[in-house]
Amino acid sequence: MRIPLVNPLVILLFLIIWLFSCGGSGPRQHSLSDKAAQTSQSVSVPEFNADSAFQFVARQVEFGPRVPNTEAHQQCGIWLTETMQRFADTVYVQQARVRAYNGTILNIRNIIGVFQPERRNRILLCAHWDSRPYADWDPDPANHYRPIDGANDGASGVGVLLEIARLLHKEPAQWGVDILLLDAEDYGKHHAASGMDEDSWALGAQYWSNNPHRIDYNANFGILLDMVGASHATFKKEGYSMMYAPNIVRNVWNKAQQLGFGNYFINQEGGFITDDHYYINKIRNIPTINIIHLDSSTRHGFFPQWHTIDDTIDYIDPQTLSVVGRTVSAVIYQQP
Ligand SMILES: [Zn+2]
Repeated sequence: MRIPLVNPLVILLFLIIWLFSCGGSGPRQHSLSDKAAQTSQSVSVPEFNADSAFQFVARQVEFGPRVPNTEAHQQCGIWLTETMQRFADTVYVQQARVRAYNGTILNIRNIIGVFQPERRNRILLCAHWDSRPYADWDPDPANHYRPIDGANDGASGVGVLLEIARLLHKEPAQWGVDILLLDAEDYGKHHAASGMDEDSWALGAQYWSNNPHRIDYNANFGILLDMVGASHATFKKEGYSMMYAPNIVRNVWNKAQQLGFGNYFINQEGGFITDDHYYINKIRNIPTINIIHLDSSTRHGFFPQWHTIDDTIDYIDPQTLSVVGRTVSAVIYQQP
């Protein structure tokens, strides 16, 4: 996705939305009150297995870079579908052709695992499974057109969600859950290319948001995971998440802090990231937050290996996968 953006116009819009959301009948996420959240804390949560999540990350990386229109992408898509079929009640595979910023037609696949389709209250969980075709932020210019492993940028979020899928299969939650593995998030405009990059990212999420797997699909709220595997990751409150779903951000960060993960889930606001959740909010109106590693000490604002050939399995820390997995599974299982 694009580097963090702090747009004064967006801040103004955020203020207006915030003012509106403070009065009158707010969106549905307001029903998740603190009181209800407190009474639900006694509900037991199945144990998130960090080694299992790590294996799900490693398996994806073993296919090689999952760049659309490549054999590795095709094979990984088959494996993800089969893995989801082991756990979910229903699996949808949405195949489509979308146009990249450079005119290339990409054959993409969004994979959707549905748990307890009969439940009315639903949580949407998402991550992107493709990896970037270019290491365009690599320190060595010779690598700027080489694809990346995307162990953190892509595979980490999917690994956490597959482990959550395994838990939901073993022990169903009170709420229905939909796991959406999105394609072609990271085929956005090359750093060196000219012209606007507006809407060149998150092509799979844009497609799904305009053409959901069920025409009447809805969820109470959504959580996107992106770059959730680096050691000592810091998750700041991302701009669009705060703009569209501030109460969901608050509930998730509170849950993380209750679990003792306050040094990962930081009480600070980050920039505005054009990522899958932006389109799910904007097009489908499902209040969706992004748990994403934001680090203001790097030159681009993300984890140090972002969009370089060093985004490999060597930098994936099971401890971080565990922190995110335990937080998200607590949110899921402790819904009132
Ligand atoms: Zn990326």
